[in-house]
Order: sequence, then structure tokens, then C-alpha cells
Amino acid sequence: MTKVPLLDLSAQNGALEAELTSAFQRVLRSCSYIMGPELESFEKETARLCAVEHGLGVSSGTDAILLALMALGIRPGDEVLVPVFTFFATAGCVARLGAVPVWVDVDAHTFNISLDDAAKKISPRTRAIIPVHLFGQAADMDAVLRFAREFNLFVIEDCAQSLGAKWKGRPVGSFGDFGTYSFFPSKNLGGFGDSGFLGTQDSALAERARILRVHGMSPKYYHAFVGGNFRMDPLQAALLAVKLPHLPSYNSRRAENAAFYARALGAHARVAGNTAAAPDDAVLLLPVDFTGEGIWNQYTLRVRGEGRRDALRAWLLARNIGCDIYYPLPLDQQECFKDTRRGGEPLRIAHQLSREVLSIPVFPDLTEIQRDTVVAAILEWLEA
Ligand SMILES: *Cc1c(COP(=O)(O)O)cnc(C)c1O
Repeated sequence: MTKVPLLDLSAQNGALEAELTSAFQRVLRSCSYIMGPELESFEKETARLCAVEHGLGVSSGTDAILLALMALGIRPGDEVLVPVFTFFATAGCVARLGAVPVWVDVDAHTFNISLDDAAKKISPRTRAIIPVHLFGQAADMDAVLRFAREFNLFVIEDCAQSLGAKWKGRPVGSFGDFGTYSFFPSKNLGGFGDSGFLGTQDSALAERARILRVHGMSPKYYHAFVGGNFRMDPLQAALLAVKLPHLPSYNSRRAENAAFYARALGAHARVAGNTAAAPDDAVLLLPVDFTGEGIWNQYTLRVRGEGRRDALRAWLLARNIGCDIYYPLPLDQQECFKDTRRGGEPLRIAHQLSREVLSIPVFPDLTEIQRDTVVAAILEWLEA
């Protein structure tokens, strides 16, 4: 039986093996292993792609968020609005600075931050909002920017899952005070270890982030701020520079896979946002790229009915089909955040999503046979 991993990088990286090897040799022989021209050239290319004036290669997507918060002067006791349905890092960075992540519910169809809910969470201590462009689809940046202006908030766009995605023709990450990106291997531009990127249009903020990236040091051995070591390796930059020109092709092949699923499963499922579409009692709910400019970092189904999601997951795994739950426990329910829980209305949608979501393989090199295998297994399960 055909095995279908959730992510398989062997074809993607194998196709570039000769170029990657020669980039490695170039860096090896340069004997320049910290900062330098390899990094600067990658930063320039990536900044252009992201339509930001200033770009910094950093140690991870997590450190990009941390650096953004530090550069904006977020301090202990400050409150930062964070969607409660996202990867841990978005909120973890806020908490590490002694600030308070304030949980905001999400939209059931886009999976992105709900500004209606955010409005209920504003307090005199609210300083910033972090929209996450989850699974590769932009949050509504018109609404986010309007909201941020109204309440005088900084905006950090978490673009870890959305490099190349746009909002109304403009790349995500180029709207807020900062955009943060990740090259974790499972992201759309997957590196060879950890690394990330920080973008901004503001030269003063860029300069501050640049200094914080090297221990708050400027000039050498003089420290005006307490920073950290948040640098990207030139080796990583050289390897990523080989893959960067292929990103549009990776993203369009993901979109083809998503379109295939929509066609093959559409008659057996409801489609997110389209409540008029039959069948009304469908167990499956398919994701939609509402912006038309998303990049499908994940293809995330909703499986409705008590225990049904876990049943489908077990069914697929038993057939060697990779799938996973992003994310099984909303952040407000995490042990480490138990002191951040507040009374008031429950974060209803996020809690429901954590019981219903299931992401299936959508990586660029998914073969036709593999796609058919995934669809056949899901249809069999629906009929069983
Ligand atoms: C992956 C991810 C991060 C963290 O990126 P790393 O490079 O793994 O540190 C942050 N936010 C979101 C939404 C992510 O998916």
C-alpha cells in the first residue's frame, strides 16, 4: 500500500543536492562563519520577496518574535493580544519578557484572529497585537491595522507559516511594525535546522533590532541594551539562498494539491464559510483560501461530531497516511499559562477547533498516487 508521509523533503532537497553541496563548500572555504556577505545577500533577497525595507536573518522564527517585542520595548506587565489558536512560540515570547499574553478567539473558517473578540480584551495596559497568518492564509490586515490605530497598538505579524502569502496583493509581514518568519524545515521555505527572519519598514526599529541581535552591542563590547545572540548562520543563509528562488513553485504545487482535495472531497463535505452548500450534515468541512493569495502551509480539515476527528486520524495512520493535529490544546489551557486564564466568555471557537482540526499531506512533492490514496482513505472512512 502507498505510504503517504505528512511531509517528505527528500525530493525537494535532493533535486538541489549539487547546488547545496557547492554552497556548503563555498562557506566552508570562506572561513567566515558568523554574519558577513552570505547573510547580507540572503537578507536582501528575502526582504525584497517580503516587500520590507529592512530584513534581518535571525536564529529562529521564535527569536524573530522575541526580538520584535524587545525592539518595541514590551516590558513586564504589558499586555499583548495573541490568538489562542496558534503555535506556542507566538505567546511564549510574550511571556518570556514578563508581559502578559491576552487570549483572543479566532474565526471558525479562516482560523485567524477575531477582531470582534480582540475588542473585548482591550485594557489600559494593552500595547501590541500579534496577528498570525495561520496555515498560510493572511489575517484580515485592513481590520488589524484599523484596530491597532484605534487602540494605539504595535502590530507584529507572525508570518512563520505564510512566507509568500499576500493580503490584497501585498506580502504579509509588510504591514505591521514587524513581520516575523521561520525557516523551520516544515515551513514553506524549509531550511537545514533552525533559522528565521525579521522584517520592518522602519529604519529606527531595524537598527534597534540589529543591535539587540548581537547582545545589544554597539560599538563592539559596548552595550546600551541587554540583547542576546539571535544571529542566523551564514551557512544557513547560503543554503536557503539556493532554495529561495524555488519558493513560488513550492507554493503553487501546494495550491494544486489543495485544489485537488477540494475537487475530490467537495461532493462529500461542506466548504468553510459556505453554509448554503450541501450536504448540511456533512462530517467534513474543507478549508478555503478566502484571500486567493494563501500558500497552504497546512491543509486543515474540520471533522465534526464527538470523537470523529480522532477516529479519522487513527484510520489514516493505520493506513500509513500521515496527518496531525495543529493544535490539540488551545494555549489558554496549557499548564504553563494557567495563571493567564481569566473569567469571562470562553474562547469558544478555538476550543471547538482544537477538537475538530486535522491536517493532511499537502507538501509540494506529493505524488498523484499519494493524493489519490489520501482521498480514497477519507472517502472509505466516510462510508464505513
Ligand atoms: C513555526 C512557528 C513559529 C516558530 O518558528 P521557529 O522557527 O520554529 O522558532 C512561530 N509561530 C508560528 C505560527 C509557527 O508556526
